[in-house]
Amino acid sequence: MADPMSGASLPSGPDGKKRRVCYFYEPTIGDYYYGQGHPMKPHRIRMAHNLIVNYSLHRLMEVNRPFPAGADDIRRFHADEYVDFLAKLRPDTELDHVHSRQLKRFNVGEDCPVFEGLFEFCQASTGGSIGAAVKLSRQDADIAINWAGGLHHAKKSEASGFCYVNDIVLGILELLKHHRRVLYVDIDVHHGDGVEEAFYLTDRVMTVSFHKFGDFFPGTGHIKDIGQEAGKNYALNVPLNNGIDDETFRSLFRPIVQKVMEVYQPEVVVLQCGADSLSGDKLGCFNLSVKGHADCLRFFRSFNVPLMVLGGGGYTIRNVARCWTYETAVALGVEPDNKLPYNEYYEYFGPDYTLHVDPSNMENLNSAIDMEKIRNLLIERISKLPHAPSVPFQVTPSSAEVPDEDEEDMEQKSKHRLWDGEQYDSDDEQKPRNRSNVDSQPMTSSSRR
Ligand SMILES: [Zn+2]
Repeated sequence: MADPMSGASLPSGPDGKKRRVCYFYEPTIGDYYYGQGHPMKPHRIRMAHNLIVNYSLHRLMEVNRPFPAGADDIRRFHADEYVDFLAKLRPDTELDHVHSRQLKRFNVGEDCPVFEGLFEFCQASTGGSIGAAVKLSRQDADIAINWAGGLHHAKKSEASGFCYVNDIVLGILELLKHHRRVLYVDIDVHHGDGVEEAFYLTDRVMTVSFHKFGDFFPGTGHIKDIGQEAGKNYALNVPLNNGIDDETFRSLFRPIVQKVMEVYQPEVVVLQCGADSLSGDKLGCFNLSVKGHADCLRFFRSFNVPLMVLGGGGYTIRNVARCWTYETAVALGVEPDNKLPYNEYYEYFGPDYTLHVDPSNMENLNSAIDMEKIRNLLIERISKLPHAPSVPFQVTPSSAEVPDEDEEDMEQKSKHRLWDGEQYDSDDEQKPRNRSNVDSQPMTSSSRR
């Protein structure tokens, strides 16, 4: 038996026990609109929420409206100048000369456009993740969910890959007030670069990212990138190829995570559930089913360690809504009916109107031999780490010590885009709604702090 006083109650294995789940949802989130043709659609969060409510999952958990994160909260990670810039951004100020220089400096424009209410959107997304951290730290919940969070590409002084404010880093900084070791795991199809970079020099946060690697945004996340200084070996990267299926993914995910949990013994886990790793995603190239994707959450739940569950990417929005609805059910320990209940966005889910959809027949370019090599290499590396490294609480992780890049690097980077600017022939292109709240279920107000 594991020591009950230790952070991780390993090895608990699947125990089928109920978890107290706390869920953050901002009812206006679906109104924010990145612009016509832009693949990032906050509307998908509203679609997921609507399904969650129509499955009556909201009755099984505490539903909170997030307290918007303030500029000072956001400055705990982001640079003052960048936060001031974001807070003042308005679509109509875009043409000003000084302003356009700043847009370039902070990488706002193409992948990361200026849109109406951008800062409020960031405040809601981040408020949910900080609120989730507070709930877990107070031991008011075992699992805290924020589907509007998970925006893992945002940097200290720069927007990137549709992300402006890194709610994950800010949520983890909040967790670090009360927890010695935080494990961050990222299953978005893209490398979790912003979070890795923020905690690259510390052993108080271990980051593990499973992602497509090779000629793919953001270009980082090589298996040889392992962290530096005190953080050396506390960053883990699992580079994958196109077409990975449920079985192959699971054959890497479970043993690697099992080893990390045994050796690192995190006191709390943050799982970024980017849904662009699902089969059929518009920007992704993996072939996971919703069940395969949700298996990652199911596995973490079995350890019975406090867990923060966040969203992230996901661009075929009907599947994003399916995935995050199913994952909410997994967090709650219930199995929803495959037949979708009638909901406000029912027409999106035709022709089958089911929760689960089959993966495609795309080729899996991840060979069994390569997977075994990756698995063995990483497990060996994890095995060499000291068990449950003890770190003094007083030491603040050096999350802000990554040097600023010079202009030249930024020029280089701006060519590396997540989205090529093509408009998708999308069946789910959604104009913003004028209504501010389309959801009518009761909310309890967040009792943050
Ligand atoms: Zn992504």
